[in-house]
This record gives sequence, C-alpha cells and structure tokens, in this order.
Amino acid sequence: MAGQFNPDLHEDLRRFGARDLDMCMNCGTCTSICPMSEDAGGGFPRRVIRLVQTGRQKRLEASLDPWLCYYCGDCTLNCPRDANPAEVMMASRRYLTARYDFTGLASLFYRSVWAELAAIGLVGLLVTGLFVFLHGPVVLNHVALNTFAPVKWVERGDWIMAAILSFFLLAGAARMAWWTLGGPAMRRISPAIYLRQVPAFFVQLFSQNRWRRCGTHRSVVRWMKHLLLVSGYLSMLTLVLILLRWFQTDHVYPFYYPQRLWGYYATAALLYPTGDFIVSRFRRKEPIHMFSEASDWIFLIMLFLTALTGILVNVFRVNGFPLATYVVYIIHLSIAVPMLVVEVPFSKWSHIMYRPLSIYLAGVKQAAAEGKLLAVRDAEPVAG
Ligand code: SF4
Ligand code: SF4
Repeated sequence: MAGQFNPDLHEDLRRFGARDLDMCMNCGTCTSICPMSEDAGGGFPRRVIRLVQTGRQKRLEASLDPWLCYYCGDCTLNCPRDANPAEVMMASRRYLTARYDFTGLASLFYRSVWAELAAIGLVGLLVTGLFVFLHGPVVLNHVALNTFAPVKWVERGDWIMAAILSFFLLAGAARMAWWTLGGPAMRRISPAIYLRQVPAFFVQLFSQNRWRRCGTHRSVVRWMKHLLLVSGYLSMLTLVLILLRWFQTDHVYPFYYPQRLWGYYATAALLYPTGDFIVSRFRRKEPIHMFSEASDWIFLIMLFLTALTGILVNVFRVNGFPLATYVVYIIHLSIAVPMLVVEVPFSKWSHIMYRPLSIYLAGVKQAAAEGKLLAVRDAEPVAG
C-alpha cells in the first residue's frame, strides 16, 4: 500500500463478495434511490463504491457507511449497470469486520471456508473431548443431566466462553472507534458526548429500528423476523449465562412454568427465522438473499442446529430417555460453543456489536462535529 492508497483494495473487496464492482459508472442512481442515504449525509452508497474504486483504504476503514445499509436491495434492483451496489456494501462490511479484528482470523475465515470449518471442528472436538473424559456419573434408570454434566461446571465454562468472545469483540469495537473517530482526535471529544450517545447503542441493539425505514414493505417483515431472531438469541444468552442453575434442571416442571416457557420461546424464536432465512437463501428471490457467501450459510446453519439440538435435549429429558439426553447434550454444546467462540467475534455474528456501535459512533461524530471538536476531515461525512 502506498500512503493512503491501496491499489489492491478493489481486488480485496472482490474476494469479500463485491464481484460486479467494475460495472459501476458512478451514475448516482443508487444514491437517489437509497432510503438511508439522507441519514448518512448524502452520497451513500455511491461514496463507498468510489472509495473502493480509488483504493482509499484508510477512508473506507474510517467510514461508518457500510454499517448504515440494511440490504433492502433497492439500489441493486435499480442499478442500470448491474453493479450490485447492495452486495458491495455487504462485501465492505465483511472487509471491515476482517480489518477490525487484530488477530487476522476473521480475514482468514472470510477468505477460506476450510479454515473456518477447521476452527469450528477443532473447538467442537475440544468440547466433545472435555465431556467424554470429564463427565460425571452416567445414570441410566432416569434422566440426571446435572449429575452427568454438573451445572456449576457448565456455568463456569459458559463464563469463560463469554469472556473470550467479549474480549475479541471489544477489541474489534475499540479499533472501529479509533479509526472512525480519527484516532488521536477522539481524545478531544468530551466524556459527556460519549455518555449521551450510550442509549442510542442499546436502542439499536434491541430494536434495529432503522431497519423499518429501509426499502419496500418486505423489509418491515424482514425486520420483524430479525427482531424475533435477536430476541431468541438474547433470551438464550440470558438463560445460559445468567440463569443456568434455574434453567438446567432435572426436575420436569409442567410446561407452563416460566423456565420451560422461556426456553420454548427462545428456541422457536431462533428456529423459525433461521429456517426461513435458509429457505430464502436457497430460493434466491429476495434481494438480500440472492448472493450467499460461505460465511452466510455457516452462520445460519449453526444457529439452526444449535436451536434444533437444544429442543431435542429437552424432548429426550422430558420423556425420560437418559442416554439420548446426554449424547444430544454433548452434540448441542459441540455446535453451540464453536458457534459462539468462532462465529461471534470472527464472522458475520460480529455485526451484533458493529451495527449498534456504528449508530453510537455516528452520534458521537455528529455531536463532536457540531462542537467543532473534530477536524472537518475527521468529521466528514458525518455518518460515514
Ligand atoms: S452502483 Fe449502479 S446505480 Fe450506483 S452509481 Fe454505480 S452504476 Fe450507478
Ligand atoms: S441495500 Fe438498501 S440501504 Fe443498502 S445501500 Fe442499497 S438501497 Fe441503500
């Protein structure tokens, strides 16, 4: 790379999925049609395409624009050159995810599906091995899951896993903030500005409310499915990280007891949207699901299998099949743990952090620019 320019940036983005980028002639149709463009300070998404075409790597890394696109596909449907701007934005998000990750693993996984599958397999085998060699007594005359897998040990394992993935996610978030707020310039921003934007992070994390404004009515349906998925995911995290002793019990409570109802809700909220998204990716009719990279499939399939094996554990447990319960429990954790440890910090899952963070950082940039705390070059464009 020479200075601020990287002549290979264009080629790099192609490897992350922006295969039709060459076709763009910068007509601006995508910008005029994009429902999110105004929010992003105008010029969006064409601005991102220009940055890639002109090899401006540093400006791309300092941009929040790719995270403000919710892939409604309107731009792609109206592009006169079939340059597929929506997929350029998606590829930019993959590229940025790889750049935020200081370990280089995200970049490796995006470039090599075999490396990603090998990492998932290794972590899965490690979990299986731990259970094979360290499990508790195998009770076969009734289901005793907490004897086979003592809940306090599983709980500690969950916390270690949460600490690992939080560390890598937060490290990525720190790099994103450093680059997008202009590095040393971010020290000039007062703590009050940072604090005032915190609610925006959580509103976006829990509601993704900007998605409703993106694209045709189908995006509203998609937003609702995604919201359901996030609620299932956050429910499951709460149950296994905070409430595991209450949730993983050998006593079979009636189905209307809260831990069972909450578990059923979380499972259904994971299974339905992931199953729907998998079918949609096969059909390739909706713009968002027309182009699938390996990482898109792995992400969805692992989430689906985690929910499916979770419900199977419950079916065997409630119906009194001890051996099947223990075996499926090991399979369940051998899928769930690599999904969390490998996929959350180093793959598409990381958007659970970067999307709301982009809204937070856009708010900080805006407030800092208004207070003339960032140089114009640092602050422009305000949301990207
Ligand atoms: S991506 Fe398509 S619509 Fe957008 S500027 Fe390029 S050619 Fe025009
Ligand atoms: S996919 Fe939708 S939100 Fe994203 S750039 Fe295109 S029109 Fe805008």
